[in-house]
Amino acid sequence: MTTHQGPRTTDELIAQAERFGARNYAPLPVVLARGEGAFVWDVEGRRYLDGLSAYSALNQGHRHPRIVAALVAQAGRLTLTSRAFHNDRMGELLEKLCAVTGFPRALPMNTGVEAVETAVKAMRRFAYERRGVPDGEGELVVADDNFHGRTLLAVSLSTDPSSYARFGPFVPGIVKVPFGDAAALARAVGPRTTGVLLEPIQGEAGVIVPPDDYLPRVRALCSARRVPLCLDEVQTGLGRTGRMFAWEHWGARPDLLCVGKALSGGVYPVSAVCGTEELLGVFTPGSHGSTYGGNPLAAAVGVAALDVVLDEELPARAARLGARVLTRLRAGLAGSPTVKEVRGKGLMIAVEFHSEIARRVTEALAREAAVLCKDTHGRTLRFLPPLVTPEDVLEDAVERMLPILARG
Ligand SMILES: *Cc1c(COP(=O)(O)O)cnc(C)c1O
Repeated sequence: MTTHQGPRTTDELIAQAERFGARNYAPLPVVLARGEGAFVWDVEGRRYLDGLSAYSALNQGHRHPRIVAALVAQAGRLTLTSRAFHNDRMGELLEKLCAVTGFPRALPMNTGVEAVETAVKAMRRFAYERRGVPDGEGELVVADDNFHGRTLLAVSLSTDPSSYARFGPFVPGIVKVPFGDAAALARAVGPRTTGVLLEPIQGEAGVIVPPDDYLPRVRALCSARRVPLCLDEVQTGLGRTGRMFAWEHWGARPDLLCVGKALSGGVYPVSAVCGTEELLGVFTPGSHGSTYGGNPLAAAVGVAALDVVLDEELPARAARLGARVLTRLRAGLAGSPTVKEVRGKGLMIAVEFHSEIARRVTEALAREAAVLCKDTHGRTLRFLPPLVTPEDVLEDAVERMLPILARG
């Protein structure tokens, strides 16, 4: 038996984290110690519905038995080889990713931001080698209010000062256009454009769903100008929005697709870029890599995570449960003086308030409704429960949330 030394109470544990950690997050004052399925428990034994799912990394729920079993079994055999050697698990992950996404090739990385970085590199090389863009002069077109991660490339893409301020100098060759405006995007695409990078639904921005004609028009424009379209589905992918991938809502298949978060099943980071032969074909030995990318532990976890999404039909489940939650929230909050809008697709849902009260409401939801949600940009609250949440659990949670949301 190991015995825990040091602080054990909520206050002591928070004080320890704040005393020794950098202050790059402002977590709710809840200290979690255990999770199972849709639920998490704090150190005092109180149970909550996880209404964030680690931003969608936990679509399959906490500690899904099949994913944990795959992790444990693989940890007992082989965990890391580096790509200097083949391993006996990576091929299966790549084949499954290609089957699920409908692309001929995949490149494994670890975190979402690395998948984005990889895709941007692929589009630049493709532009210089195959599309006649002068080397080093490419421009990437992205959307305002995007979120693609936290590296210097990703914050160079950002229009949110809290992400980019005082982190410059930034990566050059980036053109930013309003999200949802296909005409603005068309004006921004020119002879030096290396590619267009978008989230199909903007997550961190507050679950911003574009007009229905947006992605079809972007797709048509990119095809007409022979500019690659890359969709970052790190958050929207793997069932969250009620389809396997959000692009399917609009039939706007990209040329490159970034996958992450739920590809990990919430246990071990796994990401990938899936794409066309010609785009991923730009990489030659030595031109890109990652020590951990495609490692056997990640591959075993990724395969199990994909199997759970497929076998438990999580996209259809998200569509069905999400429609019910949206309907109930809209009905229950109609006429509320504090709520401006309820929006979303599948189980990717946001409630936007008229004023900056989302953090306060989030704290009240944790305390009074035992639901853990996340505020964003002051006015918006995000609700992204695991896609495996039982229907009655979800309905009860929504009923507990409604009076708190309505009073603001
Ligand atoms: C979370 C997220 C990322 C970054 O993923 P990390 O694993 O945190 O690097 C990139 N793009 C989108 C759309 C995301 O939601």
